[in-house]
Amino acid sequence: MAYINNNYLKLPGSYLFAEIARRISAYKADHPDADIIRLGIGDVTQPLAPAVIDALHRAVDEMAHADTFRGYGPEQGYDFLIQAIIENNYRKNGIDIGSDEIFVSDGSKSDCGNIQEIFSTDCKVAITDPVYPVYLDTNVMAGRTGDLQADGHFANVTYLPCTAENNFAPELPDEKVDMVYLCCPNNPTGTTLSRKELTKWVDYARNNDAVILFDAAYAAYITEKDVPRSIYEIEGAKDVAIEFRSFSKTAGFTGTRCGYTVIPKSVTGIASDGSRVQFNKLWNRRHTTKFNGTAYIVQRGAAAIYTEEGQKQIRETISYYMENARIIREGLQAVGLTAYGGVNAPYIWLKTPDNMPSWDFFDKLLTEINVVGTPGAGFGPCGEGYFRLTSFGDRENTLRAVDRIKNKLHF
Ligand SMILES: *Cc1c(COP(=O)(O)O)cnc(C)c1O
Repeated sequence: MAYINNNYLKLPGSYLFAEIARRISAYKADHPDADIIRLGIGDVTQPLAPAVIDALHRAVDEMAHADTFRGYGPEQGYDFLIQAIIENNYRKNGIDIGSDEIFVSDGSKSDCGNIQEIFSTDCKVAITDPVYPVYLDTNVMAGRTGDLQADGHFANVTYLPCTAENNFAPELPDEKVDMVYLCCPNNPTGTTLSRKELTKWVDYARNNDAVILFDAAYAAYITEKDVPRSIYEIEGAKDVAIEFRSFSKTAGFTGTRCGYTVIPKSVTGIASDGSRVQFNKLWNRRHTTKFNGTAYIVQRGAAAIYTEEGQKQIRETISYYMENARIIREGLQAVGLTAYGGVNAPYIWLKTPDNMPSWDFFDKLLTEINVVGTPGAGFGPCGEGYFRLTSFGDRENTLRAVDRIKNKLHF
């Protein structure tokens, strides 16, 4: 009998983006001429940097000749990319990471989703709320969460509320947890953890033999000095943290696909016989068994962001998005809305007026000014009463949307 993995049935449907699409089509059916501006997308819009395009072209040409053609590469990634990552993202900041502690992949959604496989299903998971849904959903699939309760929480998950009341900095849990997901800068709130706050978590993990799963997909957007770009800037983190990085938001690779995971050999867990095992060894086994490497061409493109012109070009694109973020944030504040984020991340997280439910605010923006954003409730129970706007649009549409918020929205 082919029984299914019943855990999948515990997942609520992918309600958020389907429901957004449904409401937009319904509105369009009644208002075919509506000029709708989308500030809801979590995808980049600007093209790849010229330095990346050149590197991709050169790599394609290499594939055309037998003497430079490449077949299967190392599953963990080519050394030219691993060395560039280590040098630019770690060694330059005084962090020592070994080449066998980096695993290049086809993006970090798969890595943050798959990492839980190398942990026991008995591990207790803590997840910030609201956050990127991948961490929770993959743990539901693995059977680590129990059932969904009427209040929107899974029974065996420790939720770490992040709201304006605690300045979006999660408090340490009362109970002991084994795996802690932190996303910094956070999607959707656009907020970050200071060095002091992150140190508190590293100390918690060290004292409780827990592992921090640190998603730094937006590290390249950080502008403030006191915000760590990598968790390994915190003393002791190399014993307790796994870090996920991606070229997607850093360099426009959402469609090109490349990311990497850092697992220091000093991060260990306990086997059933009581011995200590490196998570690095387990991930290496998993990665080489279930993954056959990121395309050579793509890795050449990714390595090009670390050249001098590559760095300059990706910084320009990030600045472009961050200028959009400033325009949105200041526009919201000008009409008296409270907005967070947008300083170290391309997301602006606004408090809905008078605690309006986030789906009602979605409808209000759609119908009154034809602007689409993302209801906060879609990212976790604590997202209710908030709303996400992104700065990944183009400048003209961002300005037009903000103008409508300022001049046409009724409160
Ligand atoms: C976009 C994003 C990622 C990266 O996804 P890729 O698979 O690398 O494109 C990871 N984490 C968060 C929180 C994100 O928003």
